[in-house]
Amino acid sequence: MPHDHSDHDHPHSLLPSDPALRVKALETILTAKGLVDPAAVEAILETYEKKVGPHLGAAVVARAWADRAFRARLLADANAAMAEMGISGRQGEHVVAVENRPGQHNMVVCTLCSCYPWPLLGIPPAWYKSDAYRARAVREPRKVLAEFGVTLPGDTAVRVWDSTAEVRYLVLPERPAGTEGWSEEQLRALVSRDSMIGTGLARTPEAGA
Ligand code: FE
Repeated sequence: MPHDHSDHDHPHSLLPSDPALRVKALETILTAKGLVDPAAVEAILETYEKKVGPHLGAAVVARAWADRAFRARLLADANAAMAEMGISGRQGEHVVAVENRPGQHNMVVCTLCSCYPWPLLGIPPAWYKSDAYRARAVREPRKVLAEFGVTLPGDTAVRVWDSTAEVRYLVLPERPAGTEGWSEEQLRALVSRDSMIGTGLARTPEAGA
């Protein structure tokens, strides 16, 4: 299945030691040749630095916790549910939400590269793109989870979802106990980025908001 990143032809070990320098050189050449507009590049950077990020995914999760009908719609068709909240965009064309529940934990990886639901979570963290995470998340998920500080009951099954350019996953973490009657705004503060990748759990009321 094709992934849509440009670095797939080369193993990550062949990347230059200073990617920033290489990016700058590429940008300079592309700009000089009139192939990219620096203002457009700036607009994209601005978007992903300031506007798109895990706070959007957290808003979706909080609504799913607070509104059973929305939760059902999210699990049935995540893109339609996201659209209700005005969330869409590149790398989020086909999102599938997978729910954690007692006895079932979900965790997301892209074994081939770094596919990730950008419109919900922003740009993936470095560890998500690392060779180690991509290999180990499928081979020894419990050990990886433990390193993230997540220890699950022994009878909880861990399901690992491998993202592709076609399908990106959003983990719907379990709603923490002790949050009955909380507003969506309060709930949002409990939804960490990692809890939506499955390498974390939602914060507890004591630890979180
Ligand atoms: Fe990928």
